[in-house]
Amino acid sequence: MKILVMNCGSSSLKYQLIDTDTEAVLASGLCERIGIDGQLTHKVNGNKIKDEEKNAMPNHEVAVQIVLDALVDKDFGVITDLKEIQAVGHRVVHGGEKFASSVVITDEVMQAIAECNDLAPLHNPANLVGIQSCQKVLPNVPMVAVFDTAFHQTMPEKAYMYGLPHEYYEKYKVRRYGFHGTSHSFVSKRLAELTGLALDQSKLIVCHIGNGGSVTAVQNGKSVDTSMGLTPLEGIIMGTRSGSIDPAIVEFIAHKENKTIDEVMQVLNKESGLAGMSGLTSDFRDIRAGKAAGNPLAAVAMEAYIYCIAKYVGAYAAAMNGVDAIAFTAGIGENAIEVRKGVMSYLGFLGVEIDEAQCQITGEEVCVTTPASKVKVYIIPTNEELAIARETLALVKK
Ligand code: ADP
Repeated sequence: MKILVMNCGSSSLKYQLIDTDTEAVLASGLCERIGIDGQLTHKVNGNKIKDEEKNAMPNHEVAVQIVLDALVDKDFGVITDLKEIQAVGHRVVHGGEKFASSVVITDEVMQAIAECNDLAPLHNPANLVGIQSCQKVLPNVPMVAVFDTAFHQTMPEKAYMYGLPHEYYEKYKVRRYGFHGTSHSFVSKRLAELTGLALDQSKLIVCHIGNGGSVTAVQNGKSVDTSMGLTPLEGIIMGTRSGSIDPAIVEFIAHKENKTIDEVMQVLNKESGLAGMSGLTSDFRDIRAGKAAGNPLAAVAMEAYIYCIAKYVGAYAAAMNGVDAIAFTAGIGENAIEVRKGVMSYLGFLGVEIDEAQCQITGEEVCVTTPASKVKVYIIPTNEELAIARETLALVKK
């Protein structure tokens, strides 16, 4: 079956057309600057066919139409008729407590997603616009919503309740939700396969470390704790997000710098993390280069980054009373040798033994611990689009 996977942001739209029989990506791409000056990058077999081509894209509906036109283009199209697209899988960021798994999209589901808008005001409305635009252009094609939060709905209360007055949970559903669920689910399943563990009898920790990052404890195939919270701001230090800090810092900085709460939140979301600590950028490669050039702030940022990831791994080993295997994934997790090695260097007490040679391999599935290592550590490239396609297939086949 050919499934279109859609990931809509407020001014962007990422897509992949996946043949689920072979799991091959037939075409992929990105529309950026929707509503500004519209820019399409379209790839077939990984090769760029259109590179940042300007297109009038006043809204998402037009962007969807441009993507569909590219897919059926008579010169470089990968399908001859739009009827070949048998389903669309949409990434939706926040499913609140309403969605513990992916669902076929109906009017009621759209309503329920809209009710979660407060929890993800930047993302959910854009996701809804993307779905509505696809429904207009592909009216009879089944659509599925795959939520970033759904995998974490298995967390026990002790993991998701904050130490706050209970009324905030009752009135506003203030609690830990967690994100990157599609990736944590995909990678934890693969980690169990690679280590030969039965998923339903395993204690795994997945470190999804990209520009955003989160660490998840997966016990017996279920998320039991995760580092992101009500929003993706909590947890480890990230590219531009502070991660967990003393909440009193918000008031302190607001007073000292004469800023509003919204302005301080902007600092915590966009101007902190690796970028803010180093004074460089959020890109890990710039931090690495800065450290190599003797920039002391870059060196501290990298040390603090590695240290906080290691602390979450330690905490989750305690939360599960043990850990069988650990995976690193996403841009930094898959590629940054110093991060995986740095984190592992804190984990000798768990029985993690680094394999120096294996540890140098990047960008592919690899075990980076020795055969004798009590806890195995793997690098596993994540593939959220494929995971969304698989979820979509499972629901539309029913
Ligand atoms: P997101 O999806 O959250 O935007 P990614 O998973 O794409 O993020 O990860 C982006 C991060 O991965 C950037 O900080 C980038 O510097 C880092 N990265 C990509 N390639 C490498 C590499 N070869 N070495 C180190 N870091 C890398």
